[in-house]
Amino acid sequence: MSLFESHLLSARALDAVSGEEIVTQIELRFDPLTGHGSRILPERGLMERSDFDLEAFAATNQPTCPFCPERIEQLTPRWPAAIDRAGRITRGEAVLFPNLHPYATYSSVSVYSPRLHYLPLATISEALLADNLATQVSFARAVLAADPAARWASINANHMLPSGSSLFHPHLQGIVDQHPTTVQRQLAAVPPERFGAYLEAERLAGERHLGNTGRVDWLASFAPIAPAELRAFIPACASPAELDESLTAELAHGLALALGAYAELGFECFNLALYGAPPASVGYPLNLRLAARSNLKPLYRSDSSFLERLHWEGAVDIAPEYVAERIGDRFGR
Ligand SMILES: [Zn+2]
Repeated sequence: MSLFESHLLSARALDAVSGEEIVTQIELRFDPLTGHGSRILPERGLMERSDFDLEAFAATNQPTCPFCPERIEQLTPRWPAAIDRAGRITRGEAVLFPNLHPYATYSSVSVYSPRLHYLPLATISEALLADNLATQVSFARAVLAADPAARWASINANHMLPSGSSLFHPHLQGIVDQHPTTVQRQLAAVPPERFGAYLEAERLAGERHLGNTGRVDWLASFAPIAPAELRAFIPACASPAELDESLTAELAHGLALALGAYAELGFECFNLALYGAPPASVGYPLNLRLAARSNLKPLYRSDSSFLERLHWEGAVDIAPEYVAERIGDRFGR
């Protein structure tokens, strides 16, 4: 049986004036790994470009930003010595500190750089990403060393306000805990051979597979939870804590390609999750999901509706195959 289950739904209505039948087709798909449903809708302009001046908005909130160079020392907390003796983990320009509003036992925030209050997607370079990811890798390792029961690590991002970020200054977030999130638990329960079969099927289908950057495979999600969703699979390790220097750099390379492509498509906001399972989990490939979110503008329409939040079903008006066609060349497709 095909891993790519989909059903074509036809919605019918009559035109108010002519009485002619209007047929709209919706494709219902199921994620090959988790069974999560997704509806691919006709293009409705839900993710249209915005002429909102993000740079001007950045300038209005910069004077009170706690992550900017003038305030980061005084306004961000430090780690207890058991996690980090210096209190903050740094790498290049990146700085990682505890989240003042934690989501888990160990919850971190890492800025790409205190000086980069305004950082549009096209300018998030490979080097900035590699350094910021490296602080999160160090954080996950430090927590594991201090508290071996906290085996579930993830690296995440809410980039810009529509994606759920409360602070404008661009940053990543890490969560390390004894308990997995719902999707970490779902992914960790997927039989190992299923991951291999999914990747192989995507390579063969060719429509959504974007490329392999060495040890990381990238593809446009068959059944996306969110718009223009991309996935990456890293079979060499199971937890962010196991990412070595070269894999971190390779992941940063892929992310920079993807974010550059988002910028070209007119997207300014994204969510990211790198879902770790406990270190050394046999057959689990560390995997990542990256998705665009609605652009910031007055009276904007959130891309997340009752379907996403309460039915746990994606509904997007950008077909995964279109995404792959638009951005695949960057990955060597
Ligand atoms: Zn700032």
